Amino acid sequence: MLDVCLLGTSGMLPLPGRWLTSLLLRYNGSSMLIDCGEGTQIAIKEKGWSFHPIDVICFTHYHADHISGLPGLLLTIGNSDRTEPVTLIGPKGLSRVVSALRVIAPELPYELRFIELSESREHISINGYEIDAFKVNHAVTCYGYAVNIPRIGKFDVEKAKALEIPQKAWNRLQHGSTVELDGRVYTPDMVMGAPRKGLKVTYCTDSRPVKSISENAQGSDLFICEGMYGEKGKESKAREYKHMTFVEAAHLAREAQVKEMWLTHFSPSLVRPADYVAGIQKIFPNVQAGTDGKTVELGFED
Ligand SMILES: [Zn+2]
Ligand SMILES: [Zn+2]
Repeated sequence: MLDVCLLGTSGMLPLPGRWLTSLLLRYNGSSMLIDCGEGTQIAIKEKGWSFHPIDVICFTHYHADHISGLPGLLLTIGNSDRTEPVTLIGPKGLSRVVSALRVIAPELPYELRFIELSESREHISINGYEIDAFKVNHAVTCYGYAVNIPRIGKFDVEKAKALEIPQKAWNRLQHGSTVELDGRVYTPDMVMGAPRKGLKVTYCTDSRPVKSISENAQGSDLFICEGMYGEKGKESKAREYKHMTFVEAAHLAREAQVKEMWLTHFSPSLVRPADYVAGIQKIFPNVQAGTDGKTVELGFED
């Protein structure tokens, strides 16, 4: 089970009732946060999810609405008695940016580890999360994140019996270990089927609609994408400030053949984002305007 919570839906500045865009994932006891603008701590507190298991924090880019909440969050994680390291992932310059912010949060009871991205696409495996970071097109270097939860194949009991594999080896084989018993060696491929369909959530904000997004979001169960402007007539503004319209996001979702899309990172001028959703459903039907705290539990298919 992968829990997904869109903590906030605002772009540029937090508004009453609309915190800045950020995503919190929970899987197997480990939480992962993407982006941390001003007020993200309050949004987490409102959701009621714990700070202590936040093991990974990813940043799309270093505009204030995506990172200025970090020093306070790091202190709060510290106050939750955490002593295990926290891994930060973001574009090149991450440790420099975080060091500057940490002037106001110098003492932490845990270690910070940094993974700086420089290639157009990078893969990171951490705590069961298989993360593909991919470069998008914004005013500064910016990455989207496709988060995969893989699922192993089925254990074939009949095959295990036919091969006379002792039952006491089954559990370890299921967990991917090779087992040696009474002079015989058993390997997982003897009894495990092909990997089954896992779960995939893709998060992308702030960017123009570029090919890397639809390529990396391909087949996502949930695609969370910026929709800075919903009204007609904002197309040139979107191009100028390197953001996206609802229409552009809908085309990406269609190309990527995702199951569902939530829009987020709304311009403060967009007072009622949900009013503009019907207008793009002929391009991509299964789309919703994100709302603060919107949550889904994604489970594996049977
Ligand atoms: Zn932004
Ligand atoms: Zn930005």
